[in-house]
Amino acid sequence: MPRTYHIWTIGCQMNEADSRRLAQQLEFAGFQPVDRAEAAEVVVLNTCVVRQQAEDKAVGRLGALKAVKAARPDMTVALMGCMVGMKEAPALKKRFPFVDVFMPPSDTAPLLDFLHDRGLFDEIRRAEAGARALRDAVQDEDLPLPIREQGAVTAHVPVVLGCSHACTFCVIPYRRGAERSRPMPDILREVESLAAQGVREVMLLGQIVDRYGTDFGGGTDLSALLRAVAAIDGIRRVRFLTSHPNYMTDEILETVASSDIICPQIEVPIQAGNDEVLDRMRRGYTVDQYRRLIARIRSFMPDAAIHTDIIVGFPGETPEQFEDTVRLIEELRLEKVHLSKYSERPKTIAARRMPDDVPEQEKQERWQRIEDLQTRILDEKNRRLRGQTVSVLVEDHYKGKWRGRTPHGKLVFFEDARTQRGDETLVRIDWTGPYSMIGVPADARRDLPLLVV
Ligand code: SAH
Repeated sequence: MPRTYHIWTIGCQMNEADSRRLAQQLEFAGFQPVDRAEAAEVVVLNTCVVRQQAEDKAVGRLGALKAVKAARPDMTVALMGCMVGMKEAPALKKRFPFVDVFMPPSDTAPLLDFLHDRGLFDEIRRAEAGARALRDAVQDEDLPLPIREQGAVTAHVPVVLGCSHACTFCVIPYRRGAERSRPMPDILREVESLAAQGVREVMLLGQIVDRYGTDFGGGTDLSALLRAVAAIDGIRRVRFLTSHPNYMTDEILETVASSDIICPQIEVPIQAGNDEVLDRMRRGYTVDQYRRLIARIRSFMPDAAIHTDIIVGFPGETPEQFEDTVRLIEELRLEKVHLSKYSERPKTIAARRMPDDVPEQEKQERWQRIEDLQTRILDEKNRRLRGQTVSVLVEDHYKGKWRGRTPHGKLVFFEDARTQRGDETLVRIDWTGPYSMIGVPADARRDLPLLVV
């Protein structure tokens, strides 16, 4: 009887990557995925606490699991991710005594040890590998993709764990620990293994990914890592996020601009368009410095897809300060704005010193203003792609159409009988909206029989 697991994931790409790693390890140890938590022997909730809403969802899931666990005490319930953080486990154990295992972000060892100690690794594999060797192998990087991800064209790869900045709104440093870069050989080995399994695009992840390698004290940096990853056989596209505005070097931009494989997509969150707010957020730059950064990125890549994050309704943000943000978004015309309403997070500097004084209704209105503005900007920008031919890396088949992205991260749908997942297809764009576009394979037109009139 194969053993079964179910992983529920919420939050950032880093969590998705952590869940993939855990799924690989569990499958290597003989577990198989099932769709419903209620039917699984091992249930993992991989949690996010960056905003209250995400935390509420995890607490809701936990509540539902409590009854299941009461009916089936042999089931293993594991809580993972930022809710657990580096030191929340004892308090959580009191609050949710039915949870068996607590795993800090990116750390799967507690669950593996728990299962191993209880002899829950699959018998056949155990006999093959010997218990000790099996546990060591499970911790290894070069595992086959989990069943659900087989055929995956894209994969996330964490390269910088944790964060040592102290932005006043942000809980991540408290939950993911101090910044540490993964050694380059480990990362390359992981990407080689993914490429051998058919992955064509990797997204390198870090809270401040442009600081990659700074904790090694020189020798290697994000440019070197990007070049090495892009050189791996089978890898057609490389992206990276998130970059902090203060660490984006000319060398990184030059590396991206001069490569056909590293995508011209730069994610640099500004968070607010007013200097006083930025100062209270402790972001370490001014609006004008950010403007110059955008100009510098565009001097290397005039059409770069620049993405940003904005928080509306930060403590003390006045209507006038918010208008500065609106004007900046209008001025810069970026490719994507990830928008959040400020959410007070425990232990952060803002939670301790700055009252959450912008009413929810006002936050919602500010959010909608920027959402509407950015939708209009994107609609206008994307219209310019009509009639142009773009290269699409095909990720999957969705509602009867192939779906993939351009190097600039634009979502494209098209129909074609010959295309397969993982293909890079040239597509001529016929229709565009703010968030996706539709086209036809560029060579399909040539294949049409000639009409003789
Ligand atoms: N490390 C990245 C961002 C990580 S969190 C950076 O330096 O910018 C992803 C985004 O969530 C942030 O950019 C921010 O816009 C949003 N966010 C973080 N904390 C938040 C909070 N307390 N309330 C609302 N949004 C928040």
